[in-house]
Amino acid sequence: MRVVRMDVDEDPIMPAETVEMCLVSPPNEGTGNRLWEKMKYQLVEYHSLPGFLRDNEYILGHYRSEWPMKQILLSIFTIHNETLNVWTHLIGFFIFLSLTIYTAMKVPKVVDLHALQQISDALNKADLHKLQSEIRTCLPSLPNMPDLNKLREELKTSIPLMDLVPSLSNWHVLEHLHSCLPELFSAGNFIDVQVLQGMKEPITRWPFFTFLGGAMFCLLASSACHLLSCHSERLTYIMLRLDYAGIAALIATSFYPPVYYSFMCDPFFCNLYLGSITVLGIATILLSLLPMFQRPEFRKIRASLFFGMGISGVAPIIHKLVLFWQQPEALHTTLYEILMGVLYGVGALVYAARIPERWMPGKFDIAGQSHQLFHVLVVAGAFTHYQAGLVYLKWRDQNGC
Ligand SMILES: [Zn+2]
Repeated sequence: MRVVRMDVDEDPIMPAETVEMCLVSPPNEGTGNRLWEKMKYQLVEYHSLPGFLRDNEYILGHYRSEWPMKQILLSIFTIHNETLNVWTHLIGFFIFLSLTIYTAMKVPKVVDLHALQQISDALNKADLHKLQSEIRTCLPSLPNMPDLNKLREELKTSIPLMDLVPSLSNWHVLEHLHSCLPELFSAGNFIDVQVLQGMKEPITRWPFFTFLGGAMFCLLASSACHLLSCHSERLTYIMLRLDYAGIAALIATSFYPPVYYSFMCDPFFCNLYLGSITVLGIATILLSLLPMFQRPEFRKIRASLFFGMGISGVAPIIHKLVLFWQQPEALHTTLYEILMGVLYGVGALVYAARIPERWMPGKFDIAGQSHQLFHVLVVAGAFTHYQAGLVYLKWRDQNGC
């Protein structure tokens, strides 16, 4: 079908020879209709696509082909064969943005100064000699009984300076005090158990936020790729690379929390695993810059490369199980990691095999195609990994090294 396009002058980016390929129904009278017609660019079938937009011959229709940028941006709200691909990952991006904000707000980053002030006040008010003798009776085996006067002085000087590190060794002592003399700490103006537990030095969060950043980058890049790629061959070229870079970034940064929190007390293996996956991730991104990498016949190689990157995570996970087999958290996180592996693995297989559209071409153009299933499985896998990350944080916050 050949229909004349209106408003040709709107889009200077668009090459003149492609103008007639952008199809639109004849306009009706009135501004409302005119606006509607601007949005209603006609969708085309697979056989009328230019070569660079042909990727999946089992999706037969509902393609946008070389539309102007304005119409492409508006098409986020219309139905075509990329609508659900855009939205599955855009919603995923907002889920991870919310999780990032929630995690940053919920998990303590630094020691609570207000709580520290309360402890200092509590010690100032207490009869230290009496307290010390009570503690000796209560905990005769307590090693390195702290000098409470010294502790009080340390707290006094450390609060204004905010130089808390030297005092952090006292947190464990304070915990002992709490278990020994609960009435002291729960009475009146004194600190409660919640505040005391919050006093522990929290484990660094950067590996967890690196993963959340990688997930958000992947989801947003993918969503943008699906929305914008139909504009022109040049933009398809750029966006597909961004999409592959996003996938590589998600896989690589997914290693950061499990590897860092499993091996944080063993810098050699921590650096070995983190270094390897970072190099592998960068190599994959560089490889994806090669023009041949995005040809349709490379679909299985692309899937295998990302699959291989993911499967290399088995090594640090087995290593973690060997080291911490007696820790329930090690098993708990591994179960999450197995579930994540299954979700990503099934996603990669569905993507490579183009199931289910290969069985009924044209029936899944709008909803149910392999790529949408792949997207949902990626978001589910990343969310499982987030859950595992929380277990790691809790484990290390409580136990340290
Ligand atoms: Zn995608």
